Amino acid sequence: MNILWFRRGLRLHDNPALLSAIENSKEFLALYIFDTTFQDAGYKPYHMYGFLLECLNDLNESFQSVGTKLHIFQGCPLEVFRHLRQSHCINKLCFIQDCEPIWHERDNAVKNLCLELDIEVYEHVAHTLWDPMDIIASNGGTPPLTYEMFVHVAMSVGDPPKPAADPEWKGVKFVSIEPFETNRFTLFDGVPTLGAVGVPENPVGCRNRKIIGGETNALKHFEIRLRAEETAFRSGFYQPNQARPDLLGPPLSLSAAISVGAMSVRLFYWKIHELFDKVNKGSPPAWLGITGQIIWRDYFYAMSRMNPKFDKELDNPICLQIPWNENEELFEKWKNGQTGYPFIDAGMRQLNQEGWMHHSVRNAVAMFLTRGDLWLNWDIGAEYMAYQLVDSDWSVNSGNWMWVSSSAFERLLDCSVCINSVLYGKRLEPSGDYIRRYVPELANFEFEYIHEPWKAPIDIQRAANCIIGKDYPARIVIHEEVLTRNQTWMKDFRRKFKETPAHCQPSSNSEVYKFFCLPDDSLPF
Ligand code: FAD
Ligand code: MG
Repeated sequence: MNILWFRRGLRLHDNPALLSAIENSKEFLALYIFDTTFQDAGYKPYHMYGFLLECLNDLNESFQSVGTKLHIFQGCPLEVFRHLRQSHCINKLCFIQDCEPIWHERDNAVKNLCLELDIEVYEHVAHTLWDPMDIIASNGGTPPLTYEMFVHVAMSVGDPPKPAADPEWKGVKFVSIEPFETNRFTLFDGVPTLGAVGVPENPVGCRNRKIIGGETNALKHFEIRLRAEETAFRSGFYQPNQARPDLLGPPLSLSAAISVGAMSVRLFYWKIHELFDKVNKGSPPAWLGITGQIIWRDYFYAMSRMNPKFDKELDNPICLQIPWNENEELFEKWKNGQTGYPFIDAGMRQLNQEGWMHHSVRNAVAMFLTRGDLWLNWDIGAEYMAYQLVDSDWSVNSGNWMWVSSSAFERLLDCSVCINSVLYGKRLEPSGDYIRRYVPELANFEFEYIHEPWKAPIDIQRAANCIIGKDYPARIVIHEEVLTRNQTWMKDFRRKFKETPAHCQPSSNSEVYKFFCLPDDSLPF
């Protein structure tokens, strides 16, 4: 019997592990395991788990349509495979690679068990465009430190592989196992509920998530996205979601489906490139910029591949150890959308209610927490956002937080580019309806004051039924003042960092030190 073990890669399209598992039409069994051993069993984010269960449900329905099902277990993966080995002769265990350090303990334990039980392991790279280890090997053993260097190295490795063929089910013999329970794991009867996998149903304040899971949904959504891309190409621009952010309409993003692999990154990449060539009849040829964002994703995966500290500041070899402040009270107000800055508060409340916010809003709230306003550590914000986001992704979330807080990846010494959340909000969503939707206290303010209600005279506040400082918080910091303070702190820190000789740097900063202190002309990019 061949086992296909779903972890991410929750799809039948472009799934090389699936093709491995059904070749030679051996007996085939598909399974997913809610892992209570190698993963923190208490870590059960509501929005992400709701999305995950919808993906498993969709996958199960796809398997039922060809005469089998997705077997969903909860417990220790080693126990599950040991048990299956007792009742079946297992030839192969096939799965799509989870390359980040947070999965290494689990996968090494399973690979060792397979060695012991004489089961062949087939691990396929399909969660990223390129194999991060190929990138690292082509860059002399360490990940390329800048995005430009990453692109250069990736081009030397070659185009990402095209999507794998769709599965051929003819002749495949399906194994089906009836639900059962042992003291070490459970095989559910069908797809479990949130409660059955330990997620509190409908926690306070979580409204209906707008991004629905499942490969079927993702592929339908991708068709809509391709039409938007085509319109953009014909109008002379690209990356429509970024170029013309829409904060009020239904999210157009596929990042949630991509984060669990319900949508293949390779299909995403190649379909957009082929469309560009079709629209432009091959000249100019498609270039990387049209899918620049998905390449940033691969860049962060390469950066995190050998760095278990990638999601933290401390001892993270690529991250500047910036002396951030600590202030629990300010952090709470940021988390709960109570900062007194309407655009920031709207973003954080949307995140808490729906598990979602547009990329542009993520930039604003991350900048506000770190070098823009509150001067708090990026990694506490990253941890909070990772828990709330429906598209939560360890590498991508951490990489973006380091990037926005100027803690890594770039050599800008003065970080003068900073988001002013009032001007940024006015530009992104001038009507103020985004704020009205998520900060109802301010709903009666006209456009003139809704982005900065503290400027409204008291009679206007009374007429809007919202006294600032009473019905809606006064600003927890004054942006203009803290910005000057932060820029001075950042400049001083980076100057001192550069002046400190390598042997006096904290050991974890060796990589960063090298990167920051290379003479400008020595960096190829
Ligand atoms: P598109 O233009 O459609 O991009 C295509 C795909 O590329 C996306 O679906 C996504 O998979 C990837 N992508 C897009 N933007 C980025 C980016 N900046 N970095 C890396 N990959 C990207 N994205 C996540 O998937 N999970 C996260 O946990 C996450 N946390 C973030 C935290 C912060 C502070 C910031 C600023 C960004 C974060 N992002 C995260 C990246 C980005 O905001 C989301 O992927 C967003 O949904 C992309 O919008 P889109 O799909 O419309 O982009
Ligand atoms: Mg997307």
